[in-house]
Parts: sequence; C-alpha cells; structure tokens
Amino acid sequence: MKIDTRLAERLKKINPSSTLEITSKAKKLKSEGKDIVNFAAGEPDFDTPDFIKAAAIAAINSGFTKYTPTTGTPELKKLICQKFKKDNLLEYAPDQVIVSNGAKHSIFNALMVLLNRNDEALIPLPYWVSYPEMVNLCEGIPRFIKTNPANNFKITAADLSKQISAKTKVLILNSPSNPCGCVYNRNELEAIAKICVSKNIFVISDEIYEKIIFDGLKHDSIASLNKNIYDLTVTVNGLSKSHSMTGWRIGYLGAPSDLAKAISNLQDHSTSNPNSIAQKAAVAALSAPEDFTQKLCLEFAKRRDYLAQRLKVIKQIGFTLPQGAFYMFCDISKTKTDSLVFAKRLLEEEYVSLIPGCSFGMDDHIRISFATSMEELQKGMDRIEKWITKL
Ligand code: PMP
Ligand code: GLU
Repeated sequence: MKIDTRLAERLKKINPSSTLEITSKAKKLKSEGKDIVNFAAGEPDFDTPDFIKAAAIAAINSGFTKYTPTTGTPELKKLICQKFKKDNLLEYAPDQVIVSNGAKHSIFNALMVLLNRNDEALIPLPYWVSYPEMVNLCEGIPRFIKTNPANNFKITAADLSKQISAKTKVLILNSPSNPCGCVYNRNELEAIAKICVSKNIFVISDEIYEKIIFDGLKHDSIASLNKNIYDLTVTVNGLSKSHSMTGWRIGYLGAPSDLAKAISNLQDHSTSNPNSIAQKAAVAALSAPEDFTQKLCLEFAKRRDYLAQRLKVIKQIGFTLPQGAFYMFCDISKTKTDSLVFAKRLLEEEYVSLIPGCSFGMDDHIRISFATSMEELQKGMDRIEKWITKL
C-alpha cells in the first residue's frame, strides 16, 4: 500500500500542536540540566491548590473510580449551572451542560456537531493554534478574519461582515484571547451578535481565560446578550487556567438543548465521561471562594507590567498591552527575521523558549508567556535584550 493511502485524508494536513511541542521540548531540556528560561508555557506555573488535591485523594479512597454519566456528575453540573448564572448571567439547565476532557475537547465537540464538510468557520487572526486544525479535522474550512493591532487585534462588525459567505456556519470567538490578550467589551459583542443573528451564524465562545483579566475590566459572555444569540452560542470554559488544573483535563460547555444533546451522543461514543476523580476535584474547586484565582490574576498583572516595562526599551520589538490571559504578543517585524528562525535561534543561542507567531497565523510576531516567575522573567528578558542586538 502506498504510504499516502494509509492515512485518512482528514489527517493529512494536520500539524502537531506547536505550543505543546515547544513547551515539552523546553521542559525536557530543563530536566536535562540546561539553564532554560521557559517563555513558551501555556499553563499557569502555580501548583493546583491543596484543597483540590485533597478532594481528589478522598475520591480515590472512597472508591469514586467508576464511570459517571457521560456528560458529568449531577453534582458538578449543578455547580457549573450556578457558575454560569452568577458570573455570566447565563441560564443553562443541567442537561444543557457537558463536561469534557478540557476546554479543547469541548471546542472540538462543538465543531463536530456543527460543521458539515466544506462549511466555513470564521477565525479572527491571530488565533489559538488549535482552532484551524480542529476545523480541518471536522472537514470544514477555516477562514481567517484579519484584525488591526490598533484595535487590539479585535474584529469589528465590519470585518466580520466582509468574510461571511453562503457557507459560513460558525464564528470562533476567544475573549480574553490567546495569544494577543484582547478583551471584547459589551458594545463590541453586541455588534458581532447582531450580525451573527441576522446571518444565522453559530458562535463558539471560548472563555477559558475569563478570570485572568486586568485593569478592572469585566468579562462579558456573548450568549448573555439576548435570546437570539443565546440560541446560536456554545459557551466554553474550564478549570485549567482559573485553578491551575491543566493536567486534570476538565472543561465544560453550555449550549442550546439540541446542540447539547448531539454533543452528549458524540461523547457517549467517543470518550464517555471525563475522569471521575478530576470531576470530584472540580466540585471542590467550584464550591470554594475564588481566593486562589484572584491571587493568580493579581500576580499575572504584576508580571505583565514588568514585562511591558522591559519590552518598552527594546526598540526592535513592539507589543500591545494584553488586557487578559498571560501572553505578550510581540511584533518582531523590525528584526527582519521570521518567527521560526527567531524562536529557534533564541532557544539555541540563549536557552530562552517562546512560541513563534506563525503558530497563531502571524509570522512577524512571537508569543512570550508570562506564566513564569519574576526571576525567570528577569533572566529571560536580560538574555533577549542582549541577544537582539546581534540579529
Ligand atoms: N482555548 C484556549 C484559547 C487555550 O489557550 C487553551 C489552552 N490550552 C484551551 C482553550 C484549552 O484548555 P484546556 O483544554 O486545558 O481546558
Ligand atoms: N493553550 C496553551 C497554549 O496556547 C496550552 C497548549 C495547548 O493546549 O495548545 O500554549
């Protein structure tokens, strides 16, 4: 059999996740004793709080180690409904909520039930690395919407209108955003929602960085604006970022009943329930006051400000101050180096790892994660500042 007929067509154009790949490469080099500064990581550098770990240990000891209902335990889903109501002004009944193996899985599930072959999914540029690949896996077509750094890389209603075709089925919206940290305000969401409702376009609203938001800004959920947009929106969230629980794999979504039912069927036959022990940990996380998350956010704000202060004096690198999440998306066009070469040389020559912008659709940018300690930020920036003059 010829090699190119062994794989299904849908897999042939899929690339590995560069964010995961580069992060694990950096971790490996570090474990081998190399003095790596890791600016690649897409996960908070804090340990999962002890009370959450204790709930998981109790779950194991009490034998909570069997299948649960596919879409999550009633106990956890009730807490998620309460969270949606309290934080997002969203009314979802428990059967409209699906708990999955991370928000990544939730987004994939949503695309799987929405996209027919060759349906178009609109994705603002820069985008999180997995969106286009997930659309490809669902045999849809990713269509990118260009944005302007002067508007914090946010799409406007006019940008959106221009990209809509008869085949447009979905818009993927991410606020606060990875990699650029932009946050959409209520007016901007209203303008986008109006167009989606008039053209019958579904919205997958990825709100995983909801709690990591700066400068007193407030997160708004597009589905909360009115009944029409609610009926077209899948709201995605999870515990990876807010509770430093990336490895536990708990994400969830709220959706109109018909979509939720389809996602439940899909999950029945693909992964079944998310890990039972991690669900108990999630119950503990969502039942507790938000002290941990608030501390995390304050710490990220300090680091963002430090990084901004360091970057300001490097004239070869431009940046837009992020309003949320924990990444600085930097313009390296003045260096006349493409993002892959920039990232590769920086890692090889100075042992600083970061993600090239080509992973997010912009080759003249790089992403610096500030999910690392102040000491590491200082060390990494010292190295970059010296190194950049050699480029
Ligand atoms: N969306 C965005 C924008 C992300 O950066 C991430 C982080 N990997 C996810 C979704 C998925 O998070 P998880 O699967 O860990 O819940
Ligand atoms: N979301 C993180 C990042 O962008 C984690 C890695 C991933 O899931 O792709 O780096």
